[in-house]
Amino acid sequence: MVSAATGPAPDLFDAENQTLLAARAAHSACAGSAQDACGSALGELILAYERLLRETRRLVRRSDRAELEMNQMNTRLQDLAAELEHRANHDPLTGVLNRAAIIERVNRHFVREDLALVVLDIDHFKRINDSFGHPMGDKVILGVVACLQAVVPATAQIGRVGGEEFTVVLRQHSAQESERVAQALRQAIETCVFDLPDGSGVTASFGVCWAGAGSDFDSAYGLADEALYVAKRGGRNQVCVAASSLPSLEHVV
Ligand code: GH3
Ligand code: MG
Ligand code: MG
Repeated sequence: MVSAATGPAPDLFDAENQTLLAARAAHSACAGSAQDACGSALGELILAYERLLRETRRLVRRSDRAELEMNQMNTRLQDLAAELEHRANHDPLTGVLNRAAIIERVNRHFVREDLALVVLDIDHFKRINDSFGHPMGDKVILGVVACLQAVVPATAQIGRVGGEEFTVVLRQHSAQESERVAQALRQAIETCVFDLPDGSGVTASFGVCWAGAGSDFDSAYGLADEALYVAKRGGRNQVCVAASSLPSLEHVV
């Protein structure tokens, strides 16, 4: 390559080329002289040296190609590792975190922070599957996730913990703030248009549990799940707060 500032790129074999040129000049100078034997030996040496240089250039080109291929394969490997990691942690239908990933994150956060878990389950979901088929059920699940994503704060994490059951993890939220977020999520789902063939809407029931640092997923989830079933028994499409972790807040509809 030639650049205006630097001139032609130096040849890797510049020194060898200079040696070769000098040898050719010496060979021409002694041609036909008394030093014929020496001249013919020099001629042989020049030919062998030229062959060696050609072969070396070929090997250098091959090694450059191999290095390029290795770099491309390395990039592809890194892409595949990232894709594998994404698949291992995310639910394939909705793209939110899967059960194992949300449990791992919750337990990691609990080491040093308070957290609120909002657990929700779509109401009468079997009816949607039975009446309109599984593909429509999947569409509803996707619609519910879209509602969650539109409403949750930026620091929240959403996990699909069961077929039509999700957990939203809220960081740096008080119990009261978490309950307000859950109510906003409930309203977003209730008012969303899902285009079901019979024109009906979709609702979900919610359980909320706030737990201090040092707690763990199983304990907090257990309390949120109990609250969720209070919401189901209470008529669905409502938010219940776990009484045992929030003694000052009663079940709110
Ligand atoms: P409830 O109000 O008490 O929650 O009633 P429900 O009908 O929603 O009952 P439940 O929560 O037990 O229903 C879960 C159903 O979700 C059963 C299962 O067939 C369905 N399901 C689970 N995973 C999927 C999925 O990925 N796609 C679809 N379409 N359905 C699913
Ligand atoms: Mg369920
Ligand atoms: Mg359900």
